[in-house]
Amino acid sequence: MSMFEDIPVDVGVIYEGERIRRNNMQIELGGPKQPAKFELVRAKKMDEIEDEKVTIIGPDLKDLPEGGNVPFGILIEVAGKAIEEDLEGVVERRIHEYCNFVEGIMHLNQRYDIWIRVSKKAFQKGLNSFTHVGKVLARLYKSELPFIEKIQITFITDPAKVKELHDQAMDVYEARDAKARGMKDDEVDTFYGCTLCQSFAPTHMCVITPQRYSNCGSISWFDGRASAQVDPKGPVFAIEKGEMLDAEKGEFSGINETIKQKTLGAVDRVWMYTGFGYPHTSCGCFEAMAFYIPEVEGYGIVDRGFKGVTVNGLPFSTLADSGAGGRQVDGFHGISIEYMRSPKFLEADGGWDRIVWMPQSVKDRVAEFMPETAKTNVATENDAKTVDELKVFLKEKNHPVLQRWTEEAEEVPEAEAEEAAEGTMFPVSTATVSAGGFKIIFKNAKIHAEKVIIKREKPKR
Ligand code: ZN
Repeated sequence: MSMFEDIPVDVGVIYEGERIRRNNMQIELGGPKQPAKFELVRAKKMDEIEDEKVTIIGPDLKDLPEGGNVPFGILIEVAGKAIEEDLEGVVERRIHEYCNFVEGIMHLNQRYDIWIRVSKKAFQKGLNSFTHVGKVLARLYKSELPFIEKIQITFITDPAKVKELHDQAMDVYEARDAKARGMKDDEVDTFYGCTLCQSFAPTHMCVITPQRYSNCGSISWFDGRASAQVDPKGPVFAIEKGEMLDAEKGEFSGINETIKQKTLGAVDRVWMYTGFGYPHTSCGCFEAMAFYIPEVEGYGIVDRGFKGVTVNGLPFSTLADSGAGGRQVDGFHGISIEYMRSPKFLEADGGWDRIVWMPQSVKDRVAEFMPETAKTNVATENDAKTVDELKVFLKEKNHPVLQRWTEEAEEVPEAEAEEAAEGTMFPVSTATVSAGGFKIIFKNAKIHAEKVIIKREKPKR
């Protein structure tokens, strides 16, 4: 690409999936070890920006310790006639993509959670200054998003300055998120779709509604609207709602049609407000994972920042892998933190009455939006470290999921629930078998059975 002739490394889509291991990294910027890191885009007036200016506050790449890890921030300021504040979120989400185009740079996550590595190989090739990265970003932004007329970029590695700007950035994110709160899906005719994650998860499309934030937690309905207006053919686009097929589950004909088209038929049906049946797909950059715990018939939630193992003994990474990649997996549901503040949050599954466990730090972030009862009866790592401990806790607090346990046991006495058919062959359109927390679905199968016993499942106590 001649556009990057003066850059010491290659730039292109082919580098997007590049992984940089610890042993091969020159430096790590942000990431789990750093409490403060951020990336932020702000809309400015034309005269407030010096076009393509790159500023570095703190040590530059070449002055950072080899193999080290430092606090880090990226501040991008943009201006243009069509630029408005609502575009900030979508422009910001592109930092991830554009950084990953650079040979020898790996960028993960977004907002307050960024994690970047620069490879030794790229550093030795001459990628030893943020100036190069700034030039690449500025040129990509202006060529890919022509509504950006002027852009200036600041890289920050000075710890005090990172902390200061991080705190300001958190306020900006909060203000953006708060904007759509209180709005309802019923009040609009248009939802938005986002396929930015298709480079990693080809069958994924985020559906963004007033009451459902993007999985990554960085694109609201307002952001979607602003982006679709200036760049309607881009990766963030309008979805006409169409006919409402199921209010509770959140199924709309317009969503089904659009996702079918955008995933080339791989996914053709989505229920937005449940983790079962046809759940919204999970990409790879969701902020948190809701995971079903069959033993207690409730959901645990774990966010990317949680370092320990969850109540079922698995860490975030394992649970995330169980649902990621643009798949619809029953009971493994990638979500944003903001979605947890929505009244539609897993509504079809019982909403907060179905949540049984989450990290204390997540609980603190969303506490204001939790029903009073949930504040006391959702366990954290301080209350329960195993499923057995969780059961005791839930009983103690008389958590609403208990009703699911008792109801089923009382409703159907075991003897009455048994039915038998002997030596028959019968076709079934869909049959579901669940065992050990997994569900096996047979479609259009013919089953031959010596004897069939249908038993209502009782939760293990
Ligand atoms: Zn994503």
